[in-house]
Amino acid sequence: LSDRLTLTFKNLKRKGTVTESDVNATIRDIRIALLDADVALPVVKQFTGSVRERALGAEVHQALNPAQQVVKIVNEELVGILGGQTRRLQLAKNPPTVIMLAGLQGSGKTTFAGKLAHLLKGQGHTPMLVAADLQRPNAVTQLEVVGERAGVPVFAPERGNVFGHDAALESGEGTRSFGDPVDVAVDGVEEARRRGNDILIIDTAGRLAVDVELMRQAHDIRVETDADEVLFVIDAMIGQAAVETAKAFADGVGITGSVLTKLDGDARGGAALSVASVTGRPIMYASTGEGVKDVELFHPDRMASRILDMGDVLTLIEQAEQAFDQVQAREMTRKFLADEDFTFDDFLEQMAAIKRMGSLKQMLGMMPGMQGMRAQLDALDEREFDRVEAMVRSMTPFERNHPKQINGSRRARIARGSGVSPSEVNQLLERFGEAQKMMRQLKKGGGIPGMPGMPG
Ligand code: GDP
Ligand code: MG
Repeated sequence: LSDRLTLTFKNLKRKGTVTESDVNATIRDIRIALLDADVALPVVKQFTGSVRERALGAEVHQALNPAQQVVKIVNEELVGILGGQTRRLQLAKNPPTVIMLAGLQGSGKTTFAGKLAHLLKGQGHTPMLVAADLQRPNAVTQLEVVGERAGVPVFAPERGNVFGHDAALESGEGTRSFGDPVDVAVDGVEEARRRGNDILIIDTAGRLAVDVELMRQAHDIRVETDADEVLFVIDAMIGQAAVETAKAFADGVGITGSVLTKLDGDARGGAALSVASVTGRPIMYASTGEGVKDVELFHPDRMASRILDMGDVLTLIEQAEQAFDQVQAREMTRKFLADEDFTFDDFLEQMAAIKRMGSLKQMLGMMPGMQGMRAQLDALDEREFDRVEAMVRSMTPFERNHPKQINGSRRARIARGSGVSPSEVNQLLERFGEAQKMMRQLKKGGGIPGMPGMPG
């Protein structure tokens, strides 16, 4: 995914303007890239649809730099679908807050139960785990181990009664069965209330594939415990199946959010996009390993970056937001440190950067040390830039690097070549000399180079 997008954005970056066919070509690339990453088709359609609509809208035409605008739109749409701002857990007014985990077998529910308990304990809560997965023989034991690692209590059905209704009946427990996950969950809530645990995390059973029985059971647990949060736990490596699975749990159980696990593997961003888009619920946590501490709040913006996965693009986004060419600035800074004088070639480069940025005044207003020149800038006719550029382009490489050597006959030639009067060339050279001086001073003061040699 990222390689393709990098290419797409590189191509865009090189161009000064984006036409409708540019946008369409970009959309095509993004579409293929997302499909490659196992994002489901309807999600891809929705995504590319919004990007195209926005990219072809007024935003781009008024943009400082169309390429940056498209990048910005792609990023914003990604973040938007991934859930916007990170959402926090909804805590019940009346403890315990009941958090139920649901998902396929092997998705990481039990592991995550421990992580979440550990996380919440660290925040001063007193969580308790409930073993409502009675499907697999060792599921309860596994949760007990997890609970011990997290340092939290585990509510589990009594050992002898774990594996089924009959055993429970024979043990003389009446109609109440310790083998029924719904009952265990409900008992867990009572137990937490009695003991004063403010948060209850219910681990449930999963199957290898979605089935009716599983959904009914999970649904009943949610309803009977009146769960405050139902977190759908899904393996980030699941690929295309993410859509079907997420939809089944969202419809069949009812969920309030999702947890993406195994993000430490080379999982692609595709599942995140599909799950968030299909469920319409935020992804709240990211699980990144087998250890009890390998968990973090899910940050949509970071996941978007992971999907885009490029310093390049992120830099572009920043630039679009700040209207400042940082690469250029770094290069200039390097030059200054290298004790080289500012040349007309540097000047041309800066002019090109400004053109890419579009709005000169806005950009200069943001550059350190340039605020003092604001009044001058406000009076500036941007068309004069073209004249200045024409003059510089009429200079030979030698002249650009040695402005002081530009004598009278050279000045006359430059004036002829660029279609301006000799006095305009004189003015430019005079200002350029002042700019060089200013740059040297800035350097001494350690400041960031501004935009010297400005006409006006
Ligand atoms: P459950 O069936 O949904 O309860 O899944 P488990 O919690 O038992 O996890 C299934 C397997 O995935 C176990 O081997 C876990 O150690 C592993 N696992 C769970 N979460 C992660 C994760 O974030 N990263 C990695 N690498 N492995 C995980
Ligand atoms: Mg489990």
